[in-house]
Amino acid sequence: MDVMDNITRIDDLAKAGILPKEELVELLSSYSEGDRMYAAEKARETSLSVFGRKIFSRGLVEISNYCRNDCYYCGIRRSNTKAVRYRLSEDDIHYCCDWGYGAGFRTFVLQGGEDSFFTDDLLVKIIGRIKEKYSDCAVTISLGEKERASYQRLFDAGADRYLLRHETACEAHYSKLHPSSLTLANRKRCLYDLKEIGFQTGCGLMVGSPFQTRENLAEDLLFMKEFGPHMVGIGPFIPHSETPFRDCPAGSAEDSLFMVSLVRLMHPRVLLPATTALGTVRSDGREQGILAGANVVMPNISPLEARKNYLLYDNKIGTADDASESLAYVKAKIESIGYEMVPERGDYR
Ligand code: SAM
Repeated sequence: MDVMDNITRIDDLAKAGILPKEELVELLSSYSEGDRMYAAEKARETSLSVFGRKIFSRGLVEISNYCRNDCYYCGIRRSNTKAVRYRLSEDDIHYCCDWGYGAGFRTFVLQGGEDSFFTDDLLVKIIGRIKEKYSDCAVTISLGEKERASYQRLFDAGADRYLLRHETACEAHYSKLHPSSLTLANRKRCLYDLKEIGFQTGCGLMVGSPFQTRENLAEDLLFMKEFGPHMVGIGPFIPHSETPFRDCPAGSAEDSLFMVSLVRLMHPRVLLPATTALGTVRSDGREQGILAGANVVMPNISPLEARKNYLLYDNKIGTADDASESLAYVKAKIESIGYEMVPERGDYR
């Protein structure tokens, strides 16, 4: 397979927004560094034509690391008895948003494990108070799988967006990453419910997760085409020492960046973060993510005490910084490549 063939595939993907599965598999299996740079340049041009040099920021509040699930890859899985568990109080959460608003954030993301302490009633109260105080802000929820009626209640309380990575679009692969209590069918049911309810909905995956094949990545791209997400979270898998996947290698930054570019080419207007995991496997990962087509960053605005325990994987960056340090760091990185973080909600349009 020569370089020209992959350049043609990338051009065709950009033009048609899709490629047949076998072409995607071939592209993902045989791409060269030159192909990756070509895709990044094209994706960057696409992103510039839609968003200019504006980067949307989301203030990430990690509200709890309690989780009822036992995903094999995740550091806050139920079976990790070494995790130091915490949950933020309502006041803690509102304090983070107060600070974040002053710092220019116009989206707050409440993320956490599936913690039954945060009932629908409590979340409705928290969302309601944030929206009442900051009516010009968007609230994004990322708290895992729920019944449709619960999602509806959160939406009715004012939540605007929901992030729920599909993790992998292949049933067999899904079952190698999760215990049998978790199914791809339910994950997809959640995603379709969220979209039907009216949330700006985000799916996504870890690149290089254990057992992942190039075919799986192609299936992820095809699933995203079918689903039509408003947001896509893509970052490398990174092992955590207290999980069954402790000895598995991390996903590569290059594969993750290539996937970011392909997603941008397939979904020009999608909200696409340069993820913390990307910044963890490569020190310039987030800048490279933006240069490969990403247009969102999610600085952590959780209290210092919380972030050092919200450890999904080893060596996570930013766990010793406070919110203003995290923000200054991310801002400086964005400015160093000629982009600008803007105090806007940054909705999907
Ligand atoms: N519980 C919610 C959920 O399931 O969507 C939100 C929190 S969950 C920890 C957020 C995301 O972290 C997951 O969707 C997963 O893709 C990512 N994640 C978990 N463990 C990871 C790891 N070891 N490496 C990279 N990303 C990981």
